[in-house]
Amino acid sequence: MPVNVGEKRYPLMFSPLTLPHTILKNRIIMGSMHTGLEDVPGGIERMAAFFAERAKGGVGMIITGGISPNVEGGMGGAGSKLATFDEVEEHQKITSAVHEADPEVKICLQILHAGAQAGTANPVAPSAVKSRVAASTPAELDAEGIEKQLADFANCALMAQKAGYDGVEIIGSAGYLLSAFMVAKTNLRKDQWGGEWANRMRFPVEVVKRIRAVVGEQFIVIFRVPAMDMLEDGMSRAEVLQLAQTVVQEGVNIISTHFTWHEARVPTIATMVPRAAFASVTGRLRDALDVPVITSNRINMPDVAEQVLGDGNADLISMARPMLADAELVNKAKFGRENEINTCIACNQACLDHTFTGRMTSCLVNPRACNETLLEYNRAAQVKTIAVVGAGPAGLSFAVIAAQRGHKVTLFERDNQIGGQFNLARRIPGKEEFSETLRYFKRMVEVLDINLELGYNVDTKSLSSHKFDEIVIATGILPREPVIPGIDDPRVVSYIDVISGRVQVGKRVAILGAGGIGFDVAALLAHSGVSPAMDVNVFAREWGIDFVNHPRGGVTGVEPQVNKSNREIVLLQRKASPVGMGLGKSTGWTHRIALRQRGVQMINNVEYQKIDAHGLHLLVADQPQTLVVDHIVVCAGQESLRTLYDGMRHEMQAKSALKKKKIHLIGGAYEAAEIDAKLAIDQASRLAAEI
Ligand code: NAP
Ligand code: SF4
Repeated sequence: MPVNVGEKRYPLMFSPLTLPHTILKNRIIMGSMHTGLEDVPGGIERMAAFFAERAKGGVGMIITGGISPNVEGGMGGAGSKLATFDEVEEHQKITSAVHEADPEVKICLQILHAGAQAGTANPVAPSAVKSRVAASTPAELDAEGIEKQLADFANCALMAQKAGYDGVEIIGSAGYLLSAFMVAKTNLRKDQWGGEWANRMRFPVEVVKRIRAVVGEQFIVIFRVPAMDMLEDGMSRAEVLQLAQTVVQEGVNIISTHFTWHEARVPTIATMVPRAAFASVTGRLRDALDVPVITSNRINMPDVAEQVLGDGNADLISMARPMLADAELVNKAKFGRENEINTCIACNQACLDHTFTGRMTSCLVNPRACNETLLEYNRAAQVKTIAVVGAGPAGLSFAVIAAQRGHKVTLFERDNQIGGQFNLARRIPGKEEFSETLRYFKRMVEVLDINLELGYNVDTKSLSSHKFDEIVIATGILPREPVIPGIDDPRVVSYIDVISGRVQVGKRVAILGAGGIGFDVAALLAHSGVSPAMDVNVFAREWGIDFVNHPRGGVTGVEPQVNKSNREIVLLQRKASPVGMGLGKSTGWTHRIALRQRGVQMINNVEYQKIDAHGLHLLVADQPQTLVVDHIVVCAGQESLRTLYDGMRHEMQAKSALKKKKIHLIGGAYEAAEIDAKLAIDQASRLAAEI
């Protein structure tokens, strides 16, 4: 048994927390996160395996994804409610799996009534106010309807207790039913449930009363307050405090803090948000309460958690996405293996972007998340010697998983460092977290004794002469060179030259191509000073948040202050659709706003005519226009770099000695169109699981 060095390094994180009737073994909670598993066949079994793995990984308490107390409050899927005894039986599979994995770990069901944001045909809300993120206008609840909702909440909590949960979390934030009662612009009622604040608070308080009455004292009740809802004319600090104090009086054991409505126009979990940016808001609330308080958002590593606890800003730390990225995060911290943590980089690409587009949640850096029963990394029955060519995200992921399974892996990389395109991504302001993935891979290469050959330009001859059982080609991509007269002009440069700093870009820039990399280049060139992701004051100033005075929602009346770029930057796109529509659902809008605030001009419906001494000649919606520029940065996508693969195939056909070798092509080298790190890592992991 390794020495628990982490318990000394993170004394607060590993200290137990005593509640009135039970004890949490440490201060790390797996926060609630919608996975989509509840709605697929066999989903409950998959969810049980998903949560059990996190319980084994060391968390003190788990909170499930939101489950509705009734049909009208759900997201429309088959398994998104808990109201009947049949549903209790299903949920018992989850609670038993978690308690069998570790009897000390608690699991609470999050009760989420989505109100106006429900995915059902007939959503209900305090008033008929349509949510910007919903498809239809909800029906206003009448007195009987309100009574039914309250009864359903109580019933759901009782069913959760019968299913073996240790408690429930009631979500009173994010624009869902409870918070819609509390905010004046979504509650237009004139009866006892609307109007002045005391009336608007009545429904959530009544929910707590009803729940505590049916579950008794020996059951954890957590209430998630909209601590700073980021909503223009949202809740005031005094209202949040009064809500928290009142629900505590009615029997809530733990207050959890939340920082958004889905309508808000402030990023709160994207990678551009500084780590633990909102913890001070929780801290101020904690000072006025005498129950434990949970904070969350962008706390992704143990040292950040320990710092937040040490600052007195929270009693418990909620990590949701970090638990997707690495189920063993807590145990790795406990046993001094922090460098082996596969850190959540807050990209949202495989979690929230999937959730918001109706796809199953997983994780870009860990495709096993939510696929625990389908994608298993078992010990290999036959140990093979495997060559991997290319140490970008695909090659690295393959190498690590294959080596974990017991194979002997040699990883060749032409460059003198590992990481491929991630070395570019981490240079973009707001994407600093990508360095963590590189740190993880670097450490895993050492831990797993992968034979890493840097600066090695592999060719067909050298590869054929080695005695590898299997060969994996992950040679990545080449930037696409568009066919435009004058493209060989010296002012035309590739995004790789720009991001890596090989070219000093002038004051007037055209960016040709507005995909993810075009946006990254624009962000890099438009930026000056400290990255907002690295300084909470800069972040607050740029997004118009007042953490100190806490006006309504934290943002009411606060103007964002962003320094305009000292470059003239034009981001160009041939498609007629609005620029940036292909970016991720949950973060695309933040990138569009950030660039606009810096003065980046975005033009769609462009046809590139030629480049000459006068500049870049375009047709914009069929009208000629010339951009006088110092540089044109080409971000026009990529093409697969598969020369080595094609060469090997050719050799294998020609030489009988090579015919038995198996050769695989993965990542950008396999398919450059639409390939990104998520697909590359997923494909690599699946191959490594089978080989
Ligand atoms: P991309 O997303 O495919 O965008 C390249 C853009 O270049 C296209 O949108 C296309 O738009 C334009 N283009 C394509 N062929 C062209 C041609 N022959 N001439 C002129 N323009 C052309 O590729 P990327 O930006 O290089 O990104 C690569 C991958 O990494 C993508 O899968 C992307 O999702 C991913 N990535 C993601 C992020 C993120 O934050 N989520 C960040 C960076 C990269 P038009 O033809 O309409 O002009
Ligand atoms: Fe974190 Fe990205 Fe994984 Fe989501 S997909 S859990 S944001 S690393």
